[in-house]
This record gives sequence, structure tokens and C-alpha cells, in this order.
Amino acid sequence: AAAIPGDGELDGISAAAHVMFIPSAGMAHLVPFFRFISALSSRGGVRCSIVTVLPTVSAAEADHFAGLFAAFPSVHRVDLNLLPFDASAFPGADPFLLRWEALRRSAHLLTQLIAGATPRVSAVVADVTLASHVIPITKRLRVPCHVLFISSAAMLALLAYFPIHVDKNDKSGVGDVVDVPGVRAVPRSCLPQPLPDLDHLFTKQFIDNGRAIVDADSILVNTFDALEPAALAALRDGTVVPGFPPVYAIGLLKSVASRGGGDQKAAAASTAVAAWLGEQPARSVVYVAFGSRIAVSHDQLREMAAGLEASGRRFLWVFKTTVVDREDDAEVRDVLGGEFLERVKGRGLVSKGWVDQDAVLGHPAVGLFLSHSGWNSITEAVASGVPLLAWPRGGDQRVNAMALVSGGVGAWMEEWSWDGEDRLVTRREIEEKVKEVMDDAAVRASAARVCEEAAMAVAEGGTSHRSMQEFASKLKAT
Ligand code: UDP
Ligand code: UDP
Repeated sequence: AAAIPGDGELDGISAAAHVMFIPSAGMAHLVPFFRFISALSSRGGVRCSIVTVLPTVSAAEADHFAGLFAAFPSVHRVDLNLLPFDASAFPGADPFLLRWEALRRSAHLLTQLIAGATPRVSAVVADVTLASHVIPITKRLRVPCHVLFISSAAMLALLAYFPIHVDKNDKSGVGDVVDVPGVRAVPRSCLPQPLPDLDHLFTKQFIDNGRAIVDADSILVNTFDALEPAALAALRDGTVVPGFPPVYAIGLLKSVASRGGGDQKAAAASTAVAAWLGEQPARSVVYVAFGSRIAVSHDQLREMAAGLEASGRRFLWVFKTTVVDREDDAEVRDVLGGEFLERVKGRGLVSKGWVDQDAVLGHPAVGLFLSHSGWNSITEAVASGVPLLAWPRGGDQRVNAMALVSGGVGAWMEEWSWDGEDRLVTRREIEEKVKEVMDDAAVRASAARVCEEAAMAVAEGGTSHRSMQEFASKLKAT
């Protein structure tokens, strides 16, 4: 059963609310949880515990859990042991999706973890992938349940509306477009790839969770009003789904130094990256990174290498070839060739392994981010005023790219290929687009303006600051 440190260990916090966080798997799901915990802890008056499942799918997750507990000793770890789960029924499925399913099937074990915690749990904050399993448990226990949504408000609107869309189509299929009321029409080609298949495990979870979140006590989103005004307004006024719970846009959440430091290779890579960036002129570097779990084919990586080289620009490239980091044994030299590395020496750095992306984006040498448009990556670029060149590869990334374009923080290559599509994006296309967006003063100015708006949102009296206050005022000790 969960217990949290006694009052003596939490100096000055009496009658604190006790919030139990239930995150899911994948770095994109953990990062916002850790950032939110950090924001809440720093307010005082709140005790935080976090449900932790070990071993994690990726090494990066394990390292960041260790880092969280080291940086926030008052955050209590609540271990959840998953029930055995036979993944053989889902051959070839994404390992993170399988972990979400395993978590969902073990969710009933949370009843005891929540009910047995001392002091009493006053609120649960759960990941969206677990919503349909966690919300009924919290209802039975009469504990408020909030969902921390890890993507854009645009994506939240799609999630909330998708079950209604499917019902309207009388389960005959998804059709050519999902027209999310008050937000935007999302063409089939921009949906997460599995969604048109209603029997896919991802789609089943997505529909179940989409229906369930209407019963959450509130939804927290790492965005801000000025970045996604239409989606937030439509969610809040019931245009997307009537009777939708309050939506608190509390972003952009500040990053936390949460690496465990156990990974010596990653630490050395980060130091090398920082040293190299320090030698580059202001705004001269294209930062190229596709998040923590996107695998790009070797052929496409070689086209990217040639395009970056031909652009003549300086670049810092985080190199990844597999979905799960532990399996990535491809060497940069073997894939891209030693000659390429020789030719770009000095002006291009290819780094394998984890880099502190938020620190990279905050470095004055970085002038453009060629990104897969994962929501965390987008928000980190926005917070640093770095324009994006979006090359979505899968999942929510095309919907996020729509949001980043309407938010004025970059360009989106709509024709560039999606994971699973055959077409290679050519070196020529990459070369031209990198040069074009890097030299686009209007995009740069717009990204700088949105960066200022982001700072205003979290400053005293700003929209996100007020949302955070309002949310925190709901957290009462019980
Ligand atoms: N998602 C959701 N409900 C679910 C499952 C997923 O809203 O039941 C969202 C998830 O938060 C993300 C997207 O759908 O925004 C899935 O993207 P992807 O497949 O790339 O995985 P992720 O980035 O979440 O690991
Ligand atoms: N990240 C990082 N260093 C890496 C790879 C990823 O710091 O080498 C961080 C990145 O800054 C972001 C998160 O991991 O906070 C990835 O989340 P995102 O939503 O961008 O995409 P995903 O990894 O789910 O595709």
C-alpha cells in the first residue's frame, strides 16, 4: 500500500492536499507529468505521489524517473506491479501501445493504491491513455480525477469528438474527414495512422478514452490561450462536446532537470553538444531531431544527411533509428558513411543518444528546428522562440503541425512522407526547405512574438497562471 512521508519530513506543509499522479509510458507522456509535478510542488501545500511501473519500456524513461526522485525527494514513489500480459495477440504492435494496454488491464490494482494511501488521496491526475479505466475507479472511491493531456488542444478536441463522429457514421467507418466542430476539419490522411481501423488496439483505446474523459473533473493541457485560441474556446463552450469538463491551459510548463545521470554516454554526448554549440554563431544552426521514439529508415536518413550537407548550413542532428532506445545499435558512421562525417566536420554534429533538447533549443546558436512535431518538442521550441520546420511522421503529429502553423510558429511540409508511406523525401527538397525557412524573417519574427506571448501567459496574472491558480484552489486536503 502507498504511504507518503510523515509531516515531520514535509516541513511547513500541514493539511496538504495529496495528489496521486498516474502517468503512462513513453517519454512524451512522462515529460509533462514531471514538469507538472515540479510546478505543483514548488507552490507548496501539495504532497505528490507518482505511480511507477518498473522496468520501463525505454532506458530514457528509467533514467528520468531516477532523476525525478533525486530532484524531488518529497515526491513519493508508489510501485505498481503489472499483471502478466500476453502480447502475442498483437504481433508487430508498438511496444509503448502494448505497455498502455498492460497498464489498462492492471488498472483495477490502483483501487488499493489510491484507497490505501495515507494521508488520504485528495485528487488523482491520470494520463489520457488510462482514462477509461481510472475514472470509474476514482468515481467509486469518490476521489476527483483530472486528466493531464500530453498533446495539443487540437488533439484533445479530436479525441473528444472522435467517438461522436464514429457514432454518427453508424460505425460504417471514419470517412474522408473528421470535422471537429469549432476547431478544424482533419482529413483522414492527417489522423494517427491506426484510427481509420476501428478494430485496431490503438483505436479501441482512443475511442474508450475519448468517451470517458467527459466524466473527468477537469482536463489540464500544456498549451496556452494565445497559441490555440479556437480549439480551447470550442472545448470550453461545449461546441466540441456538450458538457465537456473544464479545460485548464496551464502551459508552457517549465522544463525540469530530471535526468538520473546514470547514463554516462548520454552525459558525455550532452557535454559535447553544449561545447560545440558554444562555438557556433547566433541563430546559425539547424537543430534536427525526431523525438524519443520515431524510427526513420536508413535510406531516408541518408537523404536527410545529403540535404543538410547541400544546404550549407550548420546543423546539430540527434540520430535515432529505432522506436525503443535500448535496441538502437546502428552506428552513425555505418549508416551515413565516414566520408560524409569527414566532409561536414566542424559545421555539422551528429549525436547519437539522449541530448538535453530543452537546453539545445534555449541556446542562442539555434535558428531552426527540423522536427517531427511531437507536442513536447513544439512547446519547447515555442518557449525558446525557435521557428519550426515540421515533418510529422505519425500519431498526433500532423494535427499538432496544423496547430503550429495556425499558431504562427513555423512551417509544415504537408507533402513530406508519413511513416509507412513509400515516398522518400529527397535531399533536394530538404536542402531547399531548410534554406527557405531558415532565411524567412517573417517566420522568425512571428515565432519571437509567440515566445513573448508564452512568457506572458505564465507570468503573474497571465492566462496560464490564472488557470493554474484555479486548478490548485480545487485541490483540498480531505
Ligand atoms: N492518445 C489519446 N488517447 C488514447 C491514446 C492516445 O488521446 O487513448 C493520443 C496521445 O496522447 C497522442 C496520440 O494520441 O497525442 C498518439 O500519438 P502517438 O501514437 O505518436 O503516441 P505518443 O506520442 O502518445 O506516445
Ligand atoms: N527529448 C530529449 N532528448 C532526446 C530526445 C527527446 O530531451 O534526445 C525530449 C524532448 O525534449 C521532449 C520529449 O523528449 O520533451 C519527446 O516528446 P515529443 O512529444 O517531442 O515526442 P515523442 O518522443 O513522443 O515522439
